[in-house]
Amino acid sequence: MNTENLNTWIEISEEAFVSNLDFFRRIIPEKTDLAMVIKSNAYGHGIKEITELAGKNGILLYCVHSLEEAQLVRELGISQDVLIMGPVPPGHLSEVIKNSFRLVVYDSDTLDALNRAAVDLRQSACIHLKLETGTYRQGIDPDEVELFLEKLKKTPRIILEGVYTHFANIEDTTDHSYAFSQLKRFKDTVTRIQQNYPNIKKHTACSAAALLFSETHFDMVRLGISMYGLWPSRETFVSYKIKHSQNGEDILQPILSWKTRVGQVKSVPAKQNIGYGCTYQTTRETQLAVLPIGYADGFSRSLGNQAFVLLHGRRAPVRGRVCMNLIMVDITDIPDVKPGDEAVLIGKQGKEFISVDLLASLAGTINYEFITRLSGWIPRVITNRTR
Ligand SMILES: *Cc1c(COP(=O)(O)O)cnc(C)c1O
Repeated sequence: MNTENLNTWIEISEEAFVSNLDFFRRIIPEKTDLAMVIKSNAYGHGIKEITELAGKNGILLYCVHSLEEAQLVRELGISQDVLIMGPVPPGHLSEVIKNSFRLVVYDSDTLDALNRAAVDLRQSACIHLKLETGTYRQGIDPDEVELFLEKLKKTPRIILEGVYTHFANIEDTTDHSYAFSQLKRFKDTVTRIQQNYPNIKKHTACSAAALLFSETHFDMVRLGISMYGLWPSRETFVSYKIKHSQNGEDILQPILSWKTRVGQVKSVPAKQNIGYGCTYQTTRETQLAVLPIGYADGFSRSLGNQAFVLLHGRRAPVRGRVCMNLIMVDITDIPDVKPGDEAVLIGKQGKEFISVDLLASLAGTINYEFITRLSGWIPRVITNRTR
């Protein structure tokens, strides 16, 4: 795609993606499958672009949240396996079966409903049983597992393919004892399940677990944020550095950049107010550039008077509030900025770099929230193709 005539666009670097994937292929044993989590429009990166790159580089299973996301994957012509990790309303369970999606199950009612749909269709359905180990989000209580398995014996069309859990406190801390207590509960319950299902696929690891603890890898890892080249948290980064006594700066390569073009340049006299609410007043004659992006695109409103963008390889501070579709930046000390010039909101320009982590922290949130809120309307372009 030609970006010359775009107001704003997101670039996805294949080279960086491949580098992240190669890193995980090195640290995860060969017998362990790499599943990629592509919920929320592939963490805001673009489900179409990410599945294109992931598919071509050998990812065989995608994890999504909803049936709608799974269907979108199929509409894109992608034949890889898809695991739906969120609830599917009973009336739509037949869609899960018809498309051979894998479905998370954590209660007997869903098992019953899925079985009825499978019997009606005369097809089978693959499920992954999710265990409650202490996150208290989704999962079946370990005490109820026996009863569930009893029921499962009577529903031959339902195939128990996997069993999994999810950690509550692995990325927000450098004390991983809670995660290990969850891991123990998982293993204890799995031992009981394996008496009848010896080949069941076990998985627990999100990015932080996969990066830090090989004992969480089992048969599959579910990698989200780190495949996009971002660390789950500062604590994970620090823990990794300590554990591997290495620098760690280059292990993950952010794959996303976000760019826009200057719409208008103007001179503003001293002591004038800029933008809604008059929250910024010029202290000198000021050159402003107006950029055609705003909070509706995912540039959080809380970045007003906080963040900066890159123009001509230099930092241009945001002045005033972020509008729905526009921001104003100060270019007084950056000569020769013209309408049409490229500005970087996330990524590199010259020697400067704006990370998602920086914007997220300025906006009072985390990188996960910041990227998943990048608008799906922004065109995505794959760059740095490797082949
Ligand atoms: C989102 C999610 C993941 C991926 O987590 P990351 O920290 O982004 O790697 C893994 N497992 C489950 C159940 C999830 O909901």
